[in-house]
Amino acid sequence: MFNLIKDWREQNILEASRFSEDDWRQVADQLAVLSRLSEEELRKLFDLATLFLHDKSIKGVKDFVVTDSMKQSIALQACLPILNLGLEWYKGWSSIIVYPRSYHTKTTTTDEMGIVHEGTQHRSGEAWLRGPVVLSWREVKHSGDLDGQNVVIHEFVHKLDMLNGRANGFPPMQAGMNPEQWTQIMEEGFSDFQRNPKHGIDRYGATNPAEFLAVLSEVFFERPQDLIEAYPDIYQLMTEFFKQDPML
Ligand SMILES: [Zn+2]
Repeated sequence: MFNLIKDWREQNILEASRFSEDDWRQVADQLAVLSRLSEEELRKLFDLATLFLHDKSIKGVKDFVVTDSMKQSIALQACLPILNLGLEWYKGWSSIIVYPRSYHTKTTTTDEMGIVHEGTQHRSGEAWLRGPVVLSWREVKHSGDLDGQNVVIHEFVHKLDMLNGRANGFPPMQAGMNPEQWTQIMEEGFSDFQRNPKHGIDRYGATNPAEFLAVLSEVFFERPQDLIEAYPDIYQLMTEFFKQDPML
């Protein structure tokens, strides 16, 4: 019964959408990262992105205008990792804030001596625990073109990671996955990556296990071959976690 109501609600949202399939297709055509999807998968992604735009608000900072096609581009890329997982993987928060370009933010860190350091950091996006996702449009515009970097996938994978608490590189597992195996393979990969840079994988992934997961997810969707060559075991784990295989 619950599923019937849910399907009915979703059906109403899909029917009320102001975007036609052609509208979605025009935006999707600009995103090479979607080109491997079958016709059926693409349609599924359009529906998911429509529901996503209904559930989440996307707003520009100050007077920066986020157009419909910008919203669609963000929604399509954000929904790619959850294509076979469902929108409930993005539950518990509701807004996306878009800056025109990368921005500076005040940071506070406390070192081992207990001294608090204030600084500024250059950022192209961030994801807050139970809060918004923040994106720089300039970086989003350069995402999706198969260069291995995708700020949208990066930030939204942090959101998946945060479903069970702070981002730590350990998101909730899918049924049938072995958490110990995930921890072991990811930890081995992370300590290797800290010592040995890999072709096509951003060094930023060596920052901590959460960034390692987010950066490798960008590569998984954008340049799967690079990830298979560097870390075949992690690639395999990711096909189980995301329930899709970008090499197929
Ligand atoms: Zn990050």
